[in-house]
Amino acid sequence: MLKIEDLQVHLDAEAGLVRAIDGMRLTLSRGQTFALVGESGCGKSMTALALMRLLPDNGRIAGGRLDLDGQDVFDLSEARMRQVRGGRIGMIFQEPGTSLNPVMKVGDQIVEAIEAHTPLRGAQARAKAIDWLRRVGIPEPERRIDEYPFRLSGGQKQRIMIAMTLAAEPDYLIADEPTTALDVTIQAQILELLKDLQRERGLGLLLITHDLGVVSGMAHQVALMYAGQIVEVAPAADFFEAPRHPYARLLLRALPDADRRGEPLAAIAGTVPPLWQTFEGCRFAPRCDRAMVHCATTPPALTGVPDRPVGHEVRCLLYTDVREPLPRAAAQPTVVSEPNQDARRLLLEVRDLKVRYPLSRSLLGGRTRYFDAVGGVSYRIESGRTLALVGESGCGKTTSGKAIVQLLRRQAVIEGQALLYPSGVVGQGAASDLRVDGQPQDLFQLQGEALRAARRQIQIIFQDPFASLNPRLRVQEVLEEGLLALRPELDAPARLALLHELVDQVGLRRDALGRFPHEFSGGQRQRIAIARALAVEPRLIVCDEPTSALDVSVQAQILNLLRELQRSRGLSFLFITHNIGVVEYVADEVAVMQAGRIVESGDCDAVLGRPQQAYTRSLLAAVPRVERRMAG
Ligand code: SF4
Repeated sequence: MLKIEDLQVHLDAEAGLVRAIDGMRLTLSRGQTFALVGESGCGKSMTALALMRLLPDNGRIAGGRLDLDGQDVFDLSEARMRQVRGGRIGMIFQEPGTSLNPVMKVGDQIVEAIEAHTPLRGAQARAKAIDWLRRVGIPEPERRIDEYPFRLSGGQKQRIMIAMTLAAEPDYLIADEPTTALDVTIQAQILELLKDLQRERGLGLLLITHDLGVVSGMAHQVALMYAGQIVEVAPAADFFEAPRHPYARLLLRALPDADRRGEPLAAIAGTVPPLWQTFEGCRFAPRCDRAMVHCATTPPALTGVPDRPVGHEVRCLLYTDVREPLPRAAAQPTVVSEPNQDARRLLLEVRDLKVRYPLSRSLLGGRTRYFDAVGGVSYRIESGRTLALVGESGCGKTTSGKAIVQLLRRQAVIEGQALLYPSGVVGQGAASDLRVDGQPQDLFQLQGEALRAARRQIQIIFQDPFASLNPRLRVQEVLEEGLLALRPELDAPARLALLHELVDQVGLRRDALGRFPHEFSGGQRQRIAIARALAVEPRLIVCDEPTSALDVSVQAQILNLLRELQRSRGLSFLFITHNIGVVEYVADEVAVMQAGRIVESGDCDAVLGRPQQAYTRSLLAAVPRVERRMAG
């Protein structure tokens, strides 16, 4: 067993001493998976780095033990630690790009690990390396073994990292978001491989993830972390069936799926507190929907839950000594406005869209070779409705979204039509009966003023709220940029009034306008990106994985916001995502893409509930799900 006892990790930061981990204990057994879950900033990754003794320069282990076979790993010399690292305890890092040696062939890196930690040498080690590449799903492993990392995609690098770590045959594996960068089908393959290794070799797995679906399918034990502490630990089945900590209950209710469609998701207000501050009472109190008067002053301890199995412990005063609930401001009723009555109108019709990227030029400057990213897709979007484009990375879903927003005019060859219908055209009945009276414009043919006017009608929100906002501009300038270009008729006071309205609508404070993007959390930045898109009053927003970089609770806030905006403004969304739970929650129609083509499309319930194509079925089967077992 690998036993963590009272682990304390401190970091020196500008704001003061950060207690990143405060008194953690857990036991990982051979052949078992222990999942560590929680929002960003809770201390999950710091735990992994501490266990491997790989803390950053400003960090140190300030207390506790890591017991491996009766020996404290924290007491080992660095030379002994190098044997433990890799050989006894392996680690898969979150970011594969920085974990591989860029000037060494991937095969040599795997062989190095095999020769350092197993008796195999030379040709035998190379054969074993090829075998590992095959097991992690790298195609043509005999050829790819001699590639350098830069020739591989992010997902392939992650699989090489996994192969390299497993090739050393460790007894325990710490996997920090090991499959977050991978497509669902490859993710399913890797998770199955880890399960096989548990059966074959009794691998003990400490799985760090924010994906509760993965946890549900893999874990024997679950520990939920909050602000540097474990707040609930339980056998996995019991955790999902009867979570006790208010934070755990809210997190599970924040997960989007088909059953919650039409109702707001549970959103957890606020953010994880900074860990340089001194806590007097419960760290979750400012965000807790069940806080009591004494929660602000009495720190709860981790204690057993009376009516649950042994091993289910929770850090909450509700289970020690229930007293008076804290009088709280009445919860704000969720504003659910009436759906737009004119919702059944055809807005956009894409016909046989093809996007080709030039790969090389001939000597005379003409283009000779092309890569077909989108090979002829057609779909329709109605006013006030959401079409989800789903598929694995590289299937062309983002490219087709960008083509509609006119972001690829200079880089790619675009064929086909994207017909944008005027806003006054009212349809009747089901989608197939839509009557179209007005003359549409083909977005790909527009130039000059007509193009500018069309651009106003279609906006985009990107996946990464950190990269999509100019860090040198204040929020006011970020939001005004589009207004100045696309709504020149507005004068300065009118623009400011509109900006105030926008930040109110997306749930930011008005003083946010004077601040820079780096001063905001990921969820707040995504709100700024949404406000930027709304500023020019679009009719359609292309949402390119808008929540995949966010924690579950923040994802719930953003999905609630988008849903409310759709109801109040009659907005349409082209929602590009690989998250099937999100699709079930937001989409009216869904189109499944594979290798640049739509292989199946139609009503969301029909496609996801009764998929006709083998590809759709395999995609859905690979998606890890949390079974809705939670009572109450
Ligand atoms: Fe909520 Fe109080 Fe329990 Fe903390 S101790 S989680 S504030 S009820």
